[in-house]
Amino acid sequence: MIRYSLECAHDHVFEQWFDNMADYDAKAETKGLSCPECGDTQVHKTLMAPNIGGPKAPVQPAAPCGAPACASGLCPSMMG
Ligand SMILES: [Zn+2]
Repeated sequence: MIRYSLECAHDHVFEQWFDNMADYDAKAETKGLSCPECGDTQVHKTLMAPNIGGPKAPVQPAAPCGAPACASGLCPSMMG
């Protein structure tokens, strides 16, 4: 399971759990995501910043390929 922080077109931020990144992609593509406050389906991921204010928090770039390995930082597309 993976938790994403999502934001709708009206700046409502909420969190939702997904099985994996592919699960998010599938739901996003089919407009299966909606804002709990206004029902907007124009929802996108926000940048999660769990350690705001910490020194040099590690950057977690969005995995471009959606492969399961990305969840463990072993995305083949990032290993050059
Ligand atoms: Zn909203």
